[in-house]
Amino acid sequence: MSEKLSVVIPCYNEQDAIPIFYEEIIKVAIDLKELEWEFVFVNDGSKDNTLAIMKKLRDKDERVHFISFSRNFGKEAAIYAGLKKAIGDYVLLMDVDLQDPPFLIAQMYHAITSEGYDCVATRRVTREGEPFIRSIFAKCFYYLINNISKTEFVDGARDFRMMKRQMVNAILELTEYNRFSKGIFSWVGFHVKWLEYVNVQRVAGETKWSFWKLLIYSFEGIVAFSTTPLALASIFGLIFCFISLLLIILIVIRTLIWGDPTTGWPSLVCIFCLIGGVQMFCTGILGQYLAKTYLETKKRPIFIVKEEA
Ligand code: UDP
Ligand code: MG
Repeated sequence: MSEKLSVVIPCYNEQDAIPIFYEEIIKVAIDLKELEWEFVFVNDGSKDNTLAIMKKLRDKDERVHFISFSRNFGKEAAIYAGLKKAIGDYVLLMDVDLQDPPFLIAQMYHAITSEGYDCVATRRVTREGEPFIRSIFAKCFYYLINNISKTEFVDGARDFRMMKRQMVNAILELTEYNRFSKGIFSWVGFHVKWLEYVNVQRVAGETKWSFWKLLIYSFEGIVAFSTTPLALASIFGLIFCFISLLLIILIVIRTLIWGDPTTGWPSLVCIFCLIGGVQMFCTGILGQYLAKTYLETKKRPIFIVKEEA
């Protein structure tokens, strides 16, 4: 019996993109006919006709399956749900907007079956068509997280990847509520091949990621994969202890030599503000970790299914 490939496709308000995507993926499926194909569409609480379109596809092609959430749970939850539903020996994760070029699928399959890789992942080598400021922030994020986290983060890495069943099972074992897939994929390890490609624009619809959403998402990544920020309070504390020790010595000497004129309150105010600020900042960081821990301890489900087929 031939091996099975499951394609997992998270969709949120993608009524225009799904039919185009389906046309394209079917072409690849015809070329790679040694594989048995399965398409797992995840409807992440769309407000448009996404679900109706999925059902239509399901009626005409029984290789199509879908899961529909009770509300929007986010792409991370959609990925988890899709991976859980997929039964293939290989699983391919793909966006529906064709920003993940289908022509790479054959290469991915070849690298896994003939070159002995467990996973073939992709990264964009350019960020063309993206606002300049967004690229700068992305660069800073990758620089920062790679310095403070033991998990490796590849700049420009996409979620577009093909994995062997063993790796998919490993990912499914990570049942954390705050999911940051880029980190999870890297954390589980395995032998990964990277394919590079030039950024492609969306075929239809629009991106779901505003600048702010991305910024918050990057903070979540840092909290999920590094505990270094928690050590900042200790570092600042040490630095301030050292500085104040020096200042005490300085002031004692100055008083002994020149007496004690009561000057210097503006500098005192500045120092209070500085230390107050640093303390607030450190408490804020603690709060972030506490909040995430709080959410994890609730053990809420990652997604809720309303309908599936
Ligand atoms: N997506 C999702 N849930 C969300 C946001 C996005 O399932 O809450 C899906 C979306 O339908 C698409 C993929 O995730 O298939 C990538 O989203 P998008 O193209 O908006 O992101 P970008 O490519 O701009 O990073
Ligand atoms: Mg996209």
